[in-house]
Formats: sequence, C-alpha cells, structure tokens
Amino acid sequence: MIKDVNVIQELMDLDKKHFLHPTSPIKQQQDHGPTFIFTEGKGVMLKDMAGNTVIDGMSSLWNVNVGHGREELGKVAMEQMSKLAFSSCFATYSNEPAIRLAAKLAQIAPGDLSATFFTSGGSEANDTAYKLARHYWILKGQPNRRKIISRTKSYHGVAMGSTSATGLKPFRDFINSFDPDFCYADHFSTQDLREVIESEGPETVAAFIAEPVQGAGGLHVAPENYFKEVRSICDEYGILFITDEVITGFGRTGKYFGIEHYGVTPDMMCFAKGVTSGYAQLGGVMLSEKIHQDFTELSTGTLLHGYTYSGHPMACAVALKNIEIIERENLIENAEIMGSGMLKGFRWIQGERQIVGKVKGLGLMGGIEIVKDRKTNERFQTPVAPIIVTEAAKRGLICRSVVFDNQDTVVFSPPLIINKEEMERMIDILHDTIAAVEAEVLI
Ligand code: PMP
Repeated sequence: MIKDVNVIQELMDLDKKHFLHPTSPIKQQQDHGPTFIFTEGKGVMLKDMAGNTVIDGMSSLWNVNVGHGREELGKVAMEQMSKLAFSSCFATYSNEPAIRLAAKLAQIAPGDLSATFFTSGGSEANDTAYKLARHYWILKGQPNRRKIISRTKSYHGVAMGSTSATGLKPFRDFINSFDPDFCYADHFSTQDLREVIESEGPETVAAFIAEPVQGAGGLHVAPENYFKEVRSICDEYGILFITDEVITGFGRTGKYFGIEHYGVTPDMMCFAKGVTSGYAQLGGVMLSEKIHQDFTELSTGTLLHGYTYSGHPMACAVALKNIEIIERENLIENAEIMGSGMLKGFRWIQGERQIVGKVKGLGLMGGIEIVKDRKTNERFQTPVAPIIVTEAAKRGLICRSVVFDNQDTVVFSPPLIINKEEMERMIDILHDTIAAVEAEVLI
C-alpha cells in the first residue's frame, strides 16, 4: 500500500533527527533523508513507501540469498519464538535448533570443518576467529603467536578485531588506533605473504585470514593457484589458515563455499549473511576436527568467549530452513548459471559502452570497473560509480559502488533465485544507466 505523502514526510524528518545510519554519508543523510524507506520485498524485488519497485541487485547487503518475502522462514521464526524464544548456550546448556544447525554445517562445509561457534553476525565471527586462534596457540604452548595477517584490500567487519584486520585503510583511519598485532600482505601475492611472515617472525604469527572472493573492497577474484600456495605457506610455517566466507558462503559463488573453487580446506571458516539469508541475525566460526580436538584435549578451564546470542534458537531454526530452501530449489546451481549470464551481460555492456573497463565475477558476485580511457586504464578524477548507482536506483536497480583505494567500481550480488528474465532486466537497466551517465561524463 502506498503511504500518504504526509506520513512519508514525517518518517523522513524522524529519520534525519533520530536515526544514525550504519556506514552512511552522515551529512548527506542529514540534508536529504533516506532515499528509500522500504516496506515490502518479494523475490528479487523491493518496494518502498512511495510505491517504487526496484530490483535488489545486491541481495540488500550480499545476504538475502533466497530472496525476499519467504513466508516459510517467517513461519519457522514464529513457531520457534512461540515455543522457545531464547535460552542460554553458556556453560553446558543447549537447544535443538543450534545442535541441528551445527550438525548440518558440519555436513555441508568443506573438508573436516566440523564444529561451530555461533555469533550474531560476520564481525563477531571474525573477532571470534582471531581470539580462538590466539587462545589455541596459548594452549599449544606458543603464546607468542599473536599476530594475525590479513590482506591489503580486505574487509572483515567493524568490531575492534575485525576493523584491525580490515586492510582497507579508511576503516582503520576512522578510529585512529587499533590492535597492533595485525599486519597486511599484498592482496594477490603469496610472495608478499611469505615476506610479511618472515619479517614479522613466523614464531609470532597466529593466523592468516582471507576472503575467497573479496566483495566490499571492489570484487577481487583470487588467481587460480593463490589459495593452494597460501595453504602450503601456512602449513610450512605452522600458521592457521582462516577463510572469511561471510559473503561467499551458502551458494553465492556457485559452490556452497567460495574456497571450494580453490580445492583447499581452511583450519577455521567464518560465515554469516547467507546462513539465514538475512531473515535472522546469525554468524559463526567453524573449526577443523583437529583444532576442535586440540581445544578439547588441551583446555583445562573455561572457554572465556561467548555472546548472549551464541546459538540463538530462533536464528538457528531460520538458518536450518533457509539451508533446506537453498538445497530444495537448487539455488547453488542457479547461482552458477545466472552468474555466467551476469558476466556475459557485463561483457555485452563493455562492448557497447566506452567507460566500462574490466568486468569480473564468480557466481553471483560481479563487478564492473569504470574508466576514462580503456586503453590506459585511466580513471576519472571524480569517481563515476557512485553516479551510476544513484541513477540506476532511479531506473529501478539497486547496486553498490566501491571507490576506496583509487577504485571506481560498481558491484552486484543479486539473490540466488534470480531468473533469466530478471537478469536480462537488470542488465538492460544497467546498460541504459551507463549510457546516460557516459553521455554526461565524456563531454
Ligand atoms: N566479512 C566480510 C567479508 C564482509 O563482507 C562483512 C560484511 N559485509 C563482514 C565480514 C562483517 O559482517 P557483519 O556486517 O555481519 O558484521
């Protein structure tokens, strides 16, 4: 239902006055208020209060994998909340959805990842992984192994540890000081990883963390052999290898987990987002059987790390149903098929429009780089991707821009349920938007 203009105005004013938005341009928010006040979602579409409908080309925040408006997820949440909304998993208490989800995750995760520590989201999952890695080395009698190595273009979240691990500097500059035991290796170079380990001292390094496909930093797909080399470097120096599958998990890349494209298994794996498709707040870290065993054998005291909502019954029940939907509807295969359609669409736009440079993607994660000159890869002085994102939204498509690090990239991650017609519509809107923006910026 379309709301009265007065109600919309009232909400705009209240939003400006009282709602401090996450990761948002604060001044622009104050001046103009929200662009969309969403009220409904169905499939790949979102609808706002004014009655506008848009294709959610980002699965909102890379997370609504099974699409919007799934009543069966709402039903499961309601049933679980009515039966048992919450009970603690601290100490020796448990609940059925958390147990069953942990077992299901062990079944679908790569290699011998078999035990899960639950969190409420991705930042908490990453912080948990760093703390468990450090504690692991204390238990193993090597307490000097404290350092966590991440990569220069990485994004791992906004808690204190995950901000410290985030390679994208603006996120660290935002707080000026952070955990000093974090260091950064070049995003694509295993040689640089080796050099960082050597210069820091291998006996001081606890773990290396990487996203199988980097999303929020501009969509970077790792070279084919990269993770095999990473795995063997970590083994050589006895360093734990952690993957951050917060975006790439649960079918996003056309496999259950992104690292499966590279044929190696991490020692720990962080996940969130797609585990519930955003219908409830949930994340976690999985440990390999070996690490889990070491923990249980060497631990004498209490595992002094736990969130109130670790193993939340409702969130876990929603996750189980969400995974059932992913499997029942073959959404991982669909992500692979539609993902190659998306890349084909990007290539077609690249052929039609001058300002499209490199196009890239894996499964339903994709990006296009905007350039002033395709031959020299020269960028525009002022990034153009944000203009494309604003204009695309007006034409009915939500996508996202990345401008960190001298980048000018538009990124996409539509729901895994997207069909051929919806993908064609997305590509058409994108093409028309880029054509219009190109006409403005190339004069
Ligand atoms: N890791 C990665 C790779 C992410 O993309 C994100 C969020 N975009 C996070 C961690 C943080 O997750 P959350 O926002 O749920 O804390």
